Amino acid sequence: MSDALQQEQLVKEIPPKAADLSAWYTAVCLKAELVSYSPVRGCVVLRPAGFGMWENLQKHLDERFKATGHENAYFPLLIPESLLTKEAEHVEGFAPEVAWVTEGGQEKLEERLAIRPTSEVIIGVMYAKWIQSHRDLPILINQWANVLRWEKATRPFLRTMEFLWQEGHTAHATAAEAREETERMLDVYQDFAENVAAIPVYAGAKSASERFPGAVETFSIEALMPDGKALQSATSHDLGQNFSKAYDITFADANQQIQHVYTTSWGMSWRMLGAVIMTHGDDRGLRIPPKLAPIEAVFVPIVRGGDTSTVEKAHELAKGLRGAGYRVRVDDRDYTPGWKYSEWEMRGVPLRIEIGPRDLESGSVTVVRRDKSKGEDGAKTSVPFGELPAKLRELLDAVHDSMYAQAKAFLESHTFVVSDRDEFFTKCRERAGMIDIAWCGRPECEAEVKTATSATTRNTRALQTPGAKCVACGEPATVNAYFAQSY
Ligand SMILES: [Zn+2]
Repeated sequence: MSDALQQEQLVKEIPPKAADLSAWYTAVCLKAELVSYSPVRGCVVLRPAGFGMWENLQKHLDERFKATGHENAYFPLLIPESLLTKEAEHVEGFAPEVAWVTEGGQEKLEERLAIRPTSEVIIGVMYAKWIQSHRDLPILINQWANVLRWEKATRPFLRTMEFLWQEGHTAHATAAEAREETERMLDVYQDFAENVAAIPVYAGAKSASERFPGAVETFSIEALMPDGKALQSATSHDLGQNFSKAYDITFADANQQIQHVYTTSWGMSWRMLGAVIMTHGDDRGLRIPPKLAPIEAVFVPIVRGGDTSTVEKAHELAKGLRGAGYRVRVDDRDYTPGWKYSEWEMRGVPLRIEIGPRDLESGSVTVVRRDKSKGEDGAKTSVPFGELPAKLRELLDAVHDSMYAQAKAFLESHTFVVSDRDEFFTKCRERAGMIDIAWCGRPECEAEVKTATSATTRNTRALQTPGAKCVACGEPATVNAYFAQSY
């Protein structure tokens, strides 16, 4: 098969992104070998290319958790039913999604065991044992784990029964400290989204109906996908004393008075990778922001007439770059260069380093940026061998910045400040993007909008125009809210 034909075929297997985001998304997840469907309904296999992105997400988030004083621990997967049912709102919220273990070996269990849908309960029970005095506080623990929620649909990263995430759980002596922690972790998530995943987000408080079951207040970061639907990318919950009262987590304060602690929980899952894929990908496939890319740069040596000196040089340069802390690979497989270019573009590697016989003579390589189109200014740069370690950092930073700028331009051009009721309902129905209105905060009003348009509040912030009326219903407004349809 000719080179041009091979390339054409590779591209054909991915439908155009603008025409059908859903088909494009699934094709990219499978073709870029991020995931495979498994024989287990609702569960996917995370393949090395996908797990590599997850590992980088973990690395960057974990650094941020440690820098804000948190430690990692691990709690059991199974939760006895009698424990799960103690916090009424929490159990009601999760009941439809819980999977139960009813048998072990040959025996039927006396008490059913839930497979964790989240770990507030099991962690709360342990905190009750560990905390006695105000000197034991705060407790700042994070867990990297899998959880299981009984879902019907399967969409890689966005909706699967079993998924990977992190869940932070903290306990504090005062309400103010717990709220401060909740807001600090929301900031951590926003910082990660923007500076690692190159995705701009809106941060704010969830409405009462969208709150985590059992939380006093839930905060979220919300990203906007190319189809105009919002994607909740992380949440941070102030649980007040709801869980500490249900699970009897108390401490003796400085005056020997017994008090209930204040707890928080916060989480980001591999759903964030779904946001990355949809936000940044194009018709050629994935575009991975450099900090999440398992391979930051791939060498493609061009071999002419059986002379493999370009391959040897590529390996030598790659070794030097690895020593300087880069994640690089040399593609010395027996395919044509054109085929390799298309394949690595589809897999979203941020930089491609071409090295041919002429480059070898001039002592330089050609670096090609994945974020730019062919022929675009700055798409190709010639870099002398010796300057490669320094120049690569600069180019990766430039790729990140341009991907972020593109995503931000999209978010801004699809955010609408609306003050007219008809326009509000039309924009919600049309899935125009993030629709920002003065809002009354009433669950009834939110329910009416949802019934009429499928849009819900994504998050809220302080009222921008004091004295404004709710754009949806005309009652006095209390906050500003972003409405959108959502994943
Ligand atoms: Zn209203």
